[in-house]
Amino acid sequence: MLHAHPEHDNDPSAGLHLPDESATLTAGERLAGTLPARLTLYLRGDLGAGKTTLTRGLLRGLGFTGKVKSPTYTLVEPYKDSRIAVYHFDFYRFTDAEEFLEAGLEEYFEGDGIRLVEWPDRAQPYLPAADLEISLHVVASGGRQLALRALSTEGQRCLEKFAAPTGTPPRAP
Ligand code: ADP
Ligand code: MG
Repeated sequence: MLHAHPEHDNDPSAGLHLPDESATLTAGERLAGTLPARLTLYLRGDLGAGKTTLTRGLLRGLGFTGKVKSPTYTLVEPYKDSRIAVYHFDFYRFTDAEEFLEAGLEEYFEGDGIRLVEWPDRAQPYLPAADLEISLHVVASGGRQLALRALSTEGQRCLEKFAAPTGTPPRAP
């Protein structure tokens, strides 16, 4: 069940309960359908919250059918065969944010492409700003809680598309 806030036109947030892994994948696929050519997304949440699973769904939604592995050791996994170039980052292993600069990762944030970043705080203050922030929390009674927050006009546009009812609206008589 999606909890958007249609009564407020410019509410920059939306939430959704994801009962199981397939719901996380579906949410990622749905997010894929809202993406412009260029966007930076921060993925927040503890280890095992589902950040990589959501990314896997997003890539699937863009037509990528290959393996999606966690970039925990490689820092970045590029996906150039999907409809839009996607760069998946994971800074969990950073002990020092300077590693972001040392690894030359800034260039990935220039130009077109979708950038998804797990553990963004570990690369601050060097990491470029996000358009959309996604949080995942383990729910004690089961599943995950997903929250989206827009931080730019582009991000807001994605969030509105994500929260919009799916399917064709009924024709006016
Ligand atoms: P993270 O990247 O945040 O560390 P992962 O995406 O690797 O987390 O997922 C951790 C585990 O959570 C996986 O085993 C995945 O199947 C499971 N998972 C993902 N979404 C859900 C969900 N909505 N409900 C229950 N388990 C989930
Ligand atoms: Mg992960």
